[in-house]
Amino acid sequence: MAAIILDGKALAQQMEGELALRVKAINDKSHGNTPILATILVGEDPASATYVRMKGNACQRVGMESLRIVLPQTTTTDELLSEIDKLNANPSVQGILLQHPVPAQIDERRCFDRINVEKDVDGVTVLGFGKMAMGESAYGSATPAGIMRLLQHYKISLAGKHAVVVGRSPILGKPIAMMLLNAHATVTICHSKTQGLSEIIGLADIVVGAVGKPEFIKGTWIKEGAVVVDAGYHPGSVGDIELSAVIDRCSAYTPVPGGVGPMTIATLIAQTVEAAEKNK
Ligand code: NAP
Repeated sequence: MAAIILDGKALAQQMEGELALRVKAINDKSHGNTPILATILVGEDPASATYVRMKGNACQRVGMESLRIVLPQTTTTDELLSEIDKLNANPSVQGILLQHPVPAQIDERRCFDRINVEKDVDGVTVLGFGKMAMGESAYGSATPAGIMRLLQHYKISLAGKHAVVVGRSPILGKPIAMMLLNAHATVTICHSKTQGLSEIIGLADIVVGAVGKPEFIKGTWIKEGAVVVDAGYHPGSVGDIELSAVIDRCSAYTPVPGGVGPMTIATLIAQTVEAAEKNK
């Protein structure tokens, strides 16, 4: 049987249509107080600038506003903290996105954690992570939360399944592992010191590639019928998993591009709309 394509692009478009209606309802109720997502870009990393622009464009498509804060490469931790304080105190701003990574001289963790948890629509704070992990209400980290929405949309069953997550970053590997665990999967987290990686991946019903290295996870390592989720995106339209070698044998997969990427943005916007609905 042909594998199901977990079409993040199509689902994100559908979500945007629904979100536009919710934004309109907020506007009507609040007499034109359009929800605002504040984005903070520090430095000149071209990929980060592109991601922030894409997020701003998505705001526009659903009728929301984005407030763009652009800070120089030389910004200090204190300067960034003071920008975040201003946005925390601004009642018109419903969500705050601090684009990762920030320049090396900045204490990124301290800055993430300065974001008011009610405005942490990108799910980057320690408090938000802890609440999510404990099953309490919190905005999940946008990329893993987007992956979970995609899996739920396609009714991929998770309970009792063995999920192997490759990567343990604060924004992706760790939170997706906790989300899968909360959905009753049995979860193994792998990282750069893991031994016997290919054998562990071979046991997985669900493989999540969050490594940051093009086609690092080989298709032959993945067992027949597994669900393949690839968070990576590299030049040549390849992800962290060698998809071409597994497409014929897996039961479902996220395409690259058009799988996880669009879901990240749609989830960020959805969480901002949710924050705005709570405020009105
Ligand atoms: P990251 O912070 O660089 O983390 C990479 C993880 O992979 C680390 O935990 C690292 O282990 C692990 N790793 C590295 N080499 C390994 C190896 N040889 N064997 C096993 N594990 C290894 O990356 P990230 O921010 O989580 O991103 C991961 C991927 O997702 C990237 O391709 C990124 O572009 C993509 N991404 C996509 C989106 C989206 O919206 N589509 C958003 C964010 C990220 P250690 O902890 O031991 O170093």
